[in-house]
Formats: sequence, structure tokens, C-alpha cells
Amino acid sequence: MSRPYRWLLAALLTVVSPSVLDAQTDLELMYFGAAGWRLSDGNVVVLIDPWPSRLKYGGGGHPDDTRPDFARSDLAWSDTTLIDSLVPEADFILVHHGHFDHLGDIPYIARKTGAKVVGTETTMMILRAYGIPDEQLYAVGGGEDYQFDGFSVRVVPGIHSALNEKHYHDTRRYDRDTELEAPLRIDQFIEGGSLSFLARFAGHTVLSMGSMNFIEREFEGIEPDILLAGINGSRLGLYDYDRRLLETTGFPEVVIPTHWDNFRLPYGFSQEANVERNLVPFVETVRTLSPSTRVILPVHLEPFTVR
Ligand SMILES: [Zn+2]
Repeated sequence: MSRPYRWLLAALLTVVSPSVLDAQTDLELMYFGAAGWRLSDGNVVVLIDPWPSRLKYGGGGHPDDTRPDFARSDLAWSDTTLIDSLVPEADFILVHHGHFDHLGDIPYIARKTGAKVVGTETTMMILRAYGIPDEQLYAVGGGEDYQFDGFSVRVVPGIHSALNEKHYHDTRRYDRDTELEAPLRIDQFIEGGSLSFLARFAGHTVLSMGSMNFIEREFEGIEPDILLAGINGSRLGLYDYDRRLLETTGFPEVVIPTHWDNFRLPYGFSQEANVERNLVPFVETVRTLSPSTRVILPVHLEPFTVR
């Protein structure tokens, strides 16, 4: 990691040891990269879009990355050794949408942990194809507000990042009539509609985004204290994105950029280009628009605690 990134992190982030976690108020977060997170208040472990495999697929790799190159028409694959080392347990998995960089590792993680999975019907159909039992699956469309044991989640209707210079628009959905056979090809992991989640823990509410986009009226009045904000280049094609996002969510106390990295690079590779392009300008914008907001810049796999 480069010097400025370290400095920003040290300046902005309060890191406390997980052993002193106060279940009433503390929330521990760990960033898997892409839109992937592990959140825990000491009672429940919630994963969001966990995708440790970070396959090199569809181009955009690094010359020093000697791992196999996957085409989108190749069969999906998960690095189960890596996942086992990083994901020992989970109670819930929230899935923003069905794309491979969000859902690709969840068939394995759901089977291994037995976690309850919340996502769209398309996401559920992919997991059913992998044999995940219906007892674990919670198909939602947006608008649900579910109370579980020690944890609740409000499902917020969303829209996908404006990829391909705003020409991306995919209306395909899977349903009970769709025939899918595991293992799927990477390109069978379709979006299937997009969601955001308001995850409520004992001491914190977290609004999680899986895309660089949102429906303004759906975020109105939510006012989380932690916002996992979709921050990547495609947001620059949207009208006044940073201001609208901060204003609509009530200028959250803590904002943490998500989905900002180059997720085709394995852990340990420099993310400097994306830090410079995505994070540094965003931190400056937040300072101007919402001076009392604390921006935390997450580092892959380094747990940190918000009090
Ligand atoms: Zn996507």
C-alpha cells in the first residue's frame, strides 16, 4: 500500500482490537474487496456479497497476476482454500445482485456455513441450482423489513451501476421455470435486479450499496449512521451523485467507500490507481459537503471497529 493511502487510513480510522468489542455499541467490519463485507456486532455475523476468489475474468487483469485467465463463457470456479481461510462462519448473507463478482462464491459459502441468504429471486434460483436448501433462502423484491434473531434488515429497491457509458440495462430474470444446472458459466450469473440493504445491529445501522447507483426516493428518510457508499468511476456519469447520496441519506456520521477496487486483482496487489482515481477525490468531496462525516478507507481483509 502506498504512503498517502496509509496516511489517510491512519488519520481517519479508529482501529481497536476485536477482543475489546462491546456488543452494545461496537461493530466490526472487514472488507473483502468488490462489494464484499463481513459485519459483526459480536452476536451475529453478516456477510455482504463476499467474493474472496477475485477471479481474473473478462479482461482487465495485471501482467504480474499469473493465475488462470477466465472467459465469461467459462464455468464458474471458487477458490475454496482461500475462502476457508477467510470465512469460518456466517449467520446471514445479503446479496445486492446476481453478478459474478457479488454472488460467485456464495453457493460455496452458503453450503459451508448454513447461513440464511437474502436476495432476489434470480439470486435464489442460482443458489437452488447449487443445491442450497429452501430453508436457507429468503427471496425478496425490495420493501421487505425482516426481523431475525438479533438482527433485522430492510430491503431497499435499487438500480445497477450505469455501466458501459450508461448503455447497460439488463431486464433478464430467473424464476421457477428457469432451468439452471450447476456449475454455471460465469455469464449465467446475471444481475436479476438490484437491491440495497439497511442492516440493523445492536449499536449501528448500516446502509449497504452494491452499485454506484440508487433510487433517491427509496433512500429518503433512512438515515443510517454508517453508509457503505458505492464509489467507482461509473458514478461520474450520474447527475450530482456524491451530493445527492450524502444529502438523501442524512449526511451519515460514518461513510465507507465500497466497490472501489479493481476486483480482478488478487489480494496483496497494489490498488493505488483506484485509490487515486476513486477514493482521494471522494474524500475531498465529503469533507466539503459534510464536514462532520468521518470517511473510513477500508483495506482488504483488515478488520476495524466503529464505536
Ligand atoms: Zn453488477
